[in-house]
Amino acid sequence: MTATLIDGKALAKKIRERIRAETLEFKDKHGRPPGLAVVLVGEDPASKIYVRNKGRACDEVGFFSRQEHLPTETTQDDLLSLVKSFNKDDSIDGILVQHPMPEQIDELTVFRAIDPTKDVDGFHPVNVGNLCIGQECLVSCTPSGVIEMLHEYGVELLGKRAVIVGRSNIVGKPMIQLLLREHATVTVCHSRTQDLARECRNADVLVVAIGRPQFVKGDWVKPGAAVIDVGTNFVERNGKRVQVGDVDFEPAKEVAGWISPSPGGVGPMTITMLLVNTLRAARWHTE
Ligand code: NDP
Repeated sequence: MTATLIDGKALAKKIRERIRAETLEFKDKHGRPPGLAVVLVGEDPASKIYVRNKGRACDEVGFFSRQEHLPTETTQDDLLSLVKSFNKDDSIDGILVQHPMPEQIDELTVFRAIDPTKDVDGFHPVNVGNLCIGQECLVSCTPSGVIEMLHEYGVELLGKRAVIVGRSNIVGKPMIQLLLREHATVTVCHSRTQDLARECRNADVLVVAIGRPQFVKGDWVKPGAAVIDVGTNFVERNGKRVQVGDVDFEPAKEVAGWISPSPGGVGPMTITMLLVNTLRAARWHTE
């Protein structure tokens, strides 16, 4: 059996087309486009690429975007002042401070400083708490992208066993809440889990977010399962730097019912969900 490929790139394109149309309507109605401010502190090469891609995605759908690139030695107070100025700025609906931040900055303090209605990354404790108690909120982009992918491909979640590998605040933990909301029976695994292979083999839906190249083997996948590979790892192959996921894709795709590749799976959906969150925030701000 060869799995159906969950094409995150194609789904992202479809959602962005919808956002572009809705942005035109928003502009007509409110006289301005939704606005996103992205702040980068320091010179991390991967972060620079992510920030550039976020700016391009905004342009593509017609959002207003502001990018602030601050030097590595920026103080926490200076960063907080910038965040507060964006909180007050009516042209800005979403504020994102790129993670990771330099060591002198406490990320949670920065996330807490963002107006929760502009917290399009969904990292503010108010949004995290509201997600846990099932209230309306902005949800972390990567896990909400995973749910969109599962829905798009008709993967049933109600009553199914979902196993999440990884318990980070930005992926694993919000993923638990989103899968619970879909009435899946959720297990979450991490680096201290005993017999991870056995846990994975129980999964009707397996979401892997650990940052370990090709760690989850083909024979850990239950036949017919849906496998979502969040992992984004770079390895050397024949002298070239290539992207691989956390799942050993080739053998896994022979066993799974559905599988998302990396690259081309979750990555494009993450930025797309940022656009979705920004448009949502813009609607709240203009209601
Ligand atoms: P973190 O490093 O924050 O968390 C990793 C998690 O994986 C931890 O909970 C850790 O367990 C667990 N883990 C690590 N090693 C093992 C192991 N051997 N067995 C079981 N569990 C393990 O990572 P992130 O959640 O931020 O990211 C995970 C991956 O997803 C990365 O490759 C990242 O690049 C990618 N990613 C991709 C995104 C996209 O848009 N495509 C967005 C965000 C992330 P413990 O808690 O016990 O330490």
